[in-house]
Amino acid sequence: MAITPLMPVYPRCEVRPVRGEGVYLYGENGEKYLDFASGIAVNLLGHGHPHLTKAIQKQAETLMHVSNLYGSPQGEAFAQRIVDNTFADTVFFTNSGAEAVECAIKTARRYHHAGGNPHKHDLITFKNAFHGRTMATISATDQEKLRDGFAPLLPGFKVVEFDNLDAALAAIDEHTAGFLVEPVQGEGGIRPASKEFMTGLRKACDEHDLMLVLDEVQCGVARTGYLYAYEYYGITPDILASAKGIGGGFPMGACLATEKAARGMVIGTHGSTYGGNPLAMAAGEAVFDVVANEEFLAHVRQTGERLRSALEQMIPNHDHLFESVRGLGMMLGIKMKTDSRAFVNWLRSEGILLVAAGDNVVRVLPPLTIDDGDIREFVHGLSAAADKYRIPEAA
Ligand SMILES: *Cc1c(COP(=O)(O)O)cnc(C)c1O
Repeated sequence: MAITPLMPVYPRCEVRPVRGEGVYLYGENGEKYLDFASGIAVNLLGHGHPHLTKAIQKQAETLMHVSNLYGSPQGEAFAQRIVDNTFADTVFFTNSGAEAVECAIKTARRYHHAGGNPHKHDLITFKNAFHGRTMATISATDQEKLRDGFAPLLPGFKVVEFDNLDAALAAIDEHTAGFLVEPVQGEGGIRPASKEFMTGLRKACDEHDLMLVLDEVQCGVARTGYLYAYEYYGITPDILASAKGIGGGFPMGACLATEKAARGMVIGTHGSTYGGNPLAMAAGEAVFDVVANEEFLAHVRQTGERLRSALEQMIPNHDHLFESVRGLGMMLGIKMKTDSRAFVNWLRSEGILLVAAGDNVVRVLPPLTIDDGDIREFVHGLSAAADKYRIPEAA
């Protein structure tokens, strides 16, 4: 048999982690890696954070899973905490980011259905967006590599240029339900939308009774130095998808909505077997214990600023490779002058883990708990690796 037991949909690299500790990952044979990728913005607290690990251990011993047919003291408590800390009035818990976006899409359509406007079912989405790998979430992008071979896709999405307010407004018609947008595109290359764009979308939604749906799966949960990135933009959404960092490594997600936006999500309209189970709630609460306070968010903004300026100071020494640094908080991208994937591969062999993104960007997504010593180690290692790097011929 030629096929591998693990379905071969990932180009898996030579790094084979078996253990993690803080900012470090260790491979099968004891290799040590500095992990500034954090499982793609997931391990907010690094690896093996005692508060998170203990919370999961304790909950696993007490009660792991019950059906959503029963009352959920754990889900009610965590949902209340999210409501207290955000724009939202209500929360649906999922197991992943794509499911959170899926719930967000359903909530937006259902809002108009409940308002007697079932023809308002189209979401305007944006070029180079990434919303997940389900049929609905690949239908919501224009990225051919995600969609190839999966037709027929789901109708009801209209893709326009990102961060171009005129294009977004021109796309509104009588079928428009709202906008689905990442305030900071992750996969697409760490591109923060402008404030004018985000406030313009909010204004259009108010004027035309549309839903502003934010995909904060990657940029949410303190990553940008704000609990959610919409706070940086000075707006509030109607619906928001959260995941990745929210469980600190435990698989979970959430769809947040205002009471008005969720008016169609009544009994029987949606569900999930695992979503919001007590173990996930314990993980989410433990992450919030650490990150959902002004002191920690200020640490993310300040440390993110120092990381950014350390990277900016390094660039002139390697200006044949690096162009600029962009992003918000600890969601940073280094725009390269050469193929970023090849460089990320090279960094792995030098013991540094980062993730490539679109537009020849290298994503820098460290655990939010890093300190100045970690920054020094990272920038020093990155600079030394860049010194040794030979740009591949074919790239
Ligand atoms: C990762 C990601 C998703 C999908 O999350 P999964 O947990 O992989 O389903 C959706 N949207 C954005 C912005 C993401 O970065």
